[in-house]
Amino acid sequence: MTSRNTIQRQVVFNAVKELKNHPTSEEVYNYIRPNFPSISLGTVYRNLNMLSDLNEIRKISTNDNAVRFDYVIENHYHFQCKKCSCILDVFIPSDDVVRNDVFNEHDFRVDSCDVLLKGICVNCLKDI
Ligand SMILES: [Zn+2]
Ligand SMILES: [Zn+2]
Repeated sequence: MTSRNTIQRQVVFNAVKELKNHPTSEEVYNYIRPNFPSISLGTVYRNLNMLSDLNEIRKISTNDNAVRFDYVIENHYHFQCKKCSCILDVFIPSDDVVRNDVFNEHDFRVDSCDVLLKGICVNCLKDI
């Protein structure tokens, strides 16, 4: 039997995956609500954090100070447009940055690296 909590977590996970746009908890909530009117923003937020603790999604922080969630787990960077605030994935090999021997002279272990590139996206460039 699937518990209510498991179903909610699955619904939240699917929403992040279907939205594909690094949604905030509110965007996930608004996406789920039509089909799941009983779900609360708090529940969505709690499930997003749980999923990121389980490494099923990634939590990313961006320029606009909103916490966003990403279904792409593998290491990648992000680009955020200064005009429309859209977030795009940037797949540059990050192995060099997270390689442990780079940090051999320091007392820490690197697990991941969040880089945010900033600029103007192609859609906004058209308007300039
Ligand atoms: Zn833009
Ligand atoms: Zn991403």
